[in-house]
Amino acid sequence: MKHEPLATPAAAPAPERGIEGPGQDPDHCGLEGTVYAPDAAALAGSRAHPLIAGTKVHLLTYGCQMNVYDSEMVAGLLGERGAGFVAEPEAADLLIVNTCSVRAHAEDRVYSRLGRIKFEKRRRPGFLVAVMGCMAQKEGERIAERFPYVDLIVGTRQLHRFPQLLERIREGAPTPLLAIDETPDVNFGETVARRETPFQAYLAVTRGCNKRCTFCVVPYTRGPEVSRPVEDVVAEARRLAADGVVELTLLGQTIDTYGYDLGANLWTLLRALHGVEGLKRIRFITSHPEECRDDLWRAMADLGGKVMPFIHMPAQSGSNAVLRRMARGYTRERYLDVVASARSLCPGIEIASDWIVGFSGESDADFERSLTLMETFRPQMSYIFKYSVREGTPAQRLPDDVPDEVKKERHRRMLELQERISLELNRERVGQVEEVLVEGPSKTDPARFTGRGRARRLVHFSGDAALAGKLVRVEVTGATGLSLLGERIE
Ligand code: SF4
Repeated sequence: MKHEPLATPAAAPAPERGIEGPGQDPDHCGLEGTVYAPDAAALAGSRAHPLIAGTKVHLLTYGCQMNVYDSEMVAGLLGERGAGFVAEPEAADLLIVNTCSVRAHAEDRVYSRLGRIKFEKRRRPGFLVAVMGCMAQKEGERIAERFPYVDLIVGTRQLHRFPQLLERIREGAPTPLLAIDETPDVNFGETVARRETPFQAYLAVTRGCNKRCTFCVVPYTRGPEVSRPVEDVVAEARRLAADGVVELTLLGQTIDTYGYDLGANLWTLLRALHGVEGLKRIRFITSHPEECRDDLWRAMADLGGKVMPFIHMPAQSGSNAVLRRMARGYTRERYLDVVASARSLCPGIEIASDWIVGFSGESDADFERSLTLMETFRPQMSYIFKYSVREGTPAQRLPDDVPDEVKKERHRRMLELQERISLELNRERVGQVEEVLVEGPSKTDPARFTGRGRARRLVHFSGDAALAGKLVRVEVTGATGLSLLGERIE
């Protein structure tokens, strides 16, 4: 899935939740991380725990949607026990940093943040610091050595134990307390009680990844792929819908292999979810080109009332030689075949992609092939990353031989191409009507509102606060490379 959280999202609608990129949509995640600061009024949990109730938590999330999901899960578990969430770290009794290992820069930011916390720890006895997520899993012992004042380090497969671990610390357990064992059983957590909006939720349906893309650290931080049974996912979706969720995004590192370990598959899961009352939109990320099947496109077309016509399918490169070195398992031709099948079996489907520029051995000709691939299938948007070596990945053994200046120039050119394509595609929407899920007031113009079209395009339009969480129809009157502008119609 979105594995490369910290890159430049081309034409990425500024605020999107936690995918990759600074600004990354991560609009939410991004270089500075995303602060989790939900509704303070909702804090009085029904299962308040004496060692947790009243704790003021500042939760900072780096990385992909899976990290956002994990943060929401931990926030939900703590909230149930009576913890509250604050937007300012200075006001917190507990700082939680949910970390990302996908890019060196993300790790550096976390290290820098942990370094600065030392003074805060000295100044405020009782102030607790926890590190969770991918860096905790991969670098937990190193973090404990380098930052001994960190109280709690929780790996990716132990997050469901977070409240109990916090209780142990409050009971006087020695710190740093490390919980980074790889458990064979994966706990997907229960209903996520805390979400950034009450009407949208992520739902992890697989954990881990069985691929071995040579640049990627995910298989080593999140372990092998495990799927959540269909009936569990449907039960969770029902709970979320009953709690007011109308848009559900299923998460998996390679969502197309969902259920292979259970004798199920993604399209049967989509069919089962389609029947959940109250849900109006279902999305899923991230698709792997080698794993997409025609049955999926057919199901998306059949279920188009609720399953949105959008996939995020990273290409990474347009050069077969580079794809081979990345061990991606497909060729440029196969990628284009998958796009063609998707578009013919599910008309109107739109595609977002990821690209890495400057991977080991990428020649000028290889890079040109990436540009021509992008020009050929014309993604609606892309996240574009400059390659950087990740410790512990197979690509560490390959030379990082593309000079940084060349990477920057390739990044610039690719971004420019994507921006042109996005603008052209958005202009084609002018005069059409978009069905939009209203998210809230625009960040740049409070007089206008913002939402997402069916293919996740950001749409700005006239509206009012009562529309948040509702589906509205908007006539598109203008377009930029990043968004559509329009007027609401009945
Ligand atoms: S190994 Fe490949 S498929 Fe798996 S998470 Fe990483 S990039 Fe995605």
